[in-house]
Amino acid sequence: MNTLLLGSEKENIELAATFIKNGGVVGMPTETVYGLAADALNGEAVRKIFKAKGRPMDNPLIVHISDVADIEKFNLVSEFSDKARTLAEKFWPGPLTIILKSSDVIPNEVSAGLSTVAIRLPSHKIARKLIKESGTVLAAPSANKSGSPSPTTAQHVMNDLSGDIDAVIDGGMCDVGVESTVITLATTTPRLLRPGFVTEEEIEEVIGHIDVDDAVLFKLKNDEKAASPGMKYKHYSPKASVVLIKASDDAFVDFVNREFKKDNSICAICYDEDVKKLSSKTIPIGKADDFTTQAHLLFDALRQVDEQEDVTKVYAHCPKKHGVSMALYNRLIRAASFEVIEIE
Ligand code: AMP
Ligand code: MG
Repeated sequence: MNTLLLGSEKENIELAATFIKNGGVVGMPTETVYGLAADALNGEAVRKIFKAKGRPMDNPLIVHISDVADIEKFNLVSEFSDKARTLAEKFWPGPLTIILKSSDVIPNEVSAGLSTVAIRLPSHKIARKLIKESGTVLAAPSANKSGSPSPTTAQHVMNDLSGDIDAVIDGGMCDVGVESTVITLATTTPRLLRPGFVTEEEIEEVIGHIDVDDAVLFKLKNDEKAASPGMKYKHYSPKASVVLIKASDDAFVDFVNREFKKDNSICAICYDEDVKKLSSKTIPIGKADDFTTQAHLLFDALRQVDEQEDVTKVYAHCPKKHGVSMALYNRLIRAASFEVIEIE
């Protein structure tokens, strides 16, 4: 299959929508990461997403809508509760995914056999235009090969999926850079399943206390069932091994410089302030206290690791576990297969 790399002009969005209407799959920019979109109400089309990504079929997809009214128009859920409406009013359009009890129009491929469905209204104009033009709602996971870092540019999508999908719309680099926050309202107490740019603290300001699922911060035991199936898979990993260093900024620099003397095939994903002090190759992701920039650059940094010649290991600061940084921690700890070195 020849994958078209499209600009974001009206006629290109119309062409992409034609692919979707014909049951095809298209890479689309959103404010979080690039998504791989198909008609969410067409199970056969959705199956192509899993095939292109190599995604396990038990990992459900997020349904993207172009307007809150789509939830009722397409009869997506069995109940759109007051709490859901409150969250939607506060955080949509934007990087929050809400899980609700699904209706029977949702194909099994989308919900992976669960009785719930994940819904998001993105703020990205191109994504919303594509959804609207397609005349349906779009199932879209991140547009990467399963297991590799999520794509934040159209080129990342082409690198992973060229030849496997119909087209990619180039909307430039994604603003947020990490996937949406996922919260389920299908439990008695709302539960955070995946941290993102919308934080636990911001959600609690609106709907009161929420639980944080264990899988957000801890490794699932072998026999433990994941509330969010995506959390059980190895994720976000470059080919080189990633190790997190829990240490002061100075101790991080000392550690990496010592390791580099022993082994010059290591590199560091680091803060801007570290670059001058480190003797190894560096991939800076923003200032130490600028979590927004770190989120924006993280996945591109993980992809850059594999572009460096001969790099076999990469060290990164272990992020803090609150606010936007909780999202960074959640992604990096998986990229590192939970390997953390703690330095006093
Ligand atoms: P991705 O689109 O690649 O960011 O993956 C979507 C994430 O949302 C995965 O971690 C899924 O496990 C999660 N997800 C989607 N639908 C549901 C659902 N109905 N219940 C729980 N988690 C879900
Ligand atoms: Mg993904």
